[in-house]
Amino acid sequence: AEAAARAAGDRPTVMADGTAVSVYANLGSIADARAAADAGAEGCGLLRTEFLFLDRATAPTEAEQAADYGGVAAALAGKPVVIRLLDVGGDKPAPYLDIAAEENPALGVRGIRVALAQPQILETQLRAILSVADVEHCRIMVPMVASVDEMIAVRTVLDRLRGELGIGPVQLGAMVETPAAAITADLLAAHVDFLSVGSNDLTQYVLAMDRGNPALAAGIDGLHPAVLRLIQSACRGAATRGVPVSVCGGLAADPLAVPILLGLGVRTLSVPPARVPATKALVAALSLAQATAQAEAAVAVDSAGAVRALARRFAEELA
Ligand code: PEP
Ligand code: MG
Repeated sequence: AEAAARAAGDRPTVMADGTAVSVYANLGSIADARAAADAGAEGCGLLRTEFLFLDRATAPTEAEQAADYGGVAAALAGKPVVIRLLDVGGDKPAPYLDIAAEENPALGVRGIRVALAQPQILETQLRAILSVADVEHCRIMVPMVASVDEMIAVRTVLDRLRGELGIGPVQLGAMVETPAAAITADLLAAHVDFLSVGSNDLTQYVLAMDRGNPALAAGIDGLHPAVLRLIQSACRGAATRGVPVSVCGGLAADPLAVPILLGLGVRTLSVPPARVPATKALVAALSLAQATAQAEAAVAVDSAGAVRALARRFAEELA
């Protein structure tokens, strides 16, 4: 029965009108990758490589990293694996990373800023990824991108290492987690193979609300019109160069958000493994015309509450 479920889950997801959508899983370990494969995930849209770096006294070696990335790729048996470069900062304790204490860690040396300031971290991680046996199924994703310059810098290192190791092209993408990246997606699109919206950080940064502050939890909603307009900007900018857009933040796992995201032009949703089956079922029940109408309505109202109200009405009609 499990094999049958897996076979059914392996079918690509199509919307009711035939539009293809990929439903991937967010992973933080090899065990997660096995759970995702069992749940029918069509790939990994976000491997949070931090799991390898935190809670230890020394940095993971290239071989240790390669073993873990290879283990995730093997568990997903040839499906795409988007490996996110290390995304730590002043708020996550990793003493060997040599990041000074900061007054505003969320606005500090974090994400790709760490890797560009300490190039051996970036090189070791890229070498580890390039040494995975299944590298042709691996894609590399850069966190906390704010400027085209950062993508050019990463690509320069990646191309040099590929040359040294004799490895062919590997897709390189940017996360859209800063308002800057969303607003300038057309500029980023010239330098990337894909964009992936990190809605958790994008919401925190555009609303200027700490995502971990419980006093703000009620206000920090990814369906706020400001967030939706940024995602719309990301999709429009990406479309000018035919660059695909995914969403790997928590918004992709919110059933009320899924029709809106698809209507805005998102074609890959990456969700926690446990959310994969329900997300696939929801996508299959929707037509692109319905999703487009939902997105148009959502960007026209004036509050997260109003977006949620119209999304809820639509969900009831669909049920
Ligand atoms: C995000 O910010 O939405 C995201 C996917 O990254 P993380 O949650 O790991 O910061
Ligand atoms: Mg993030």
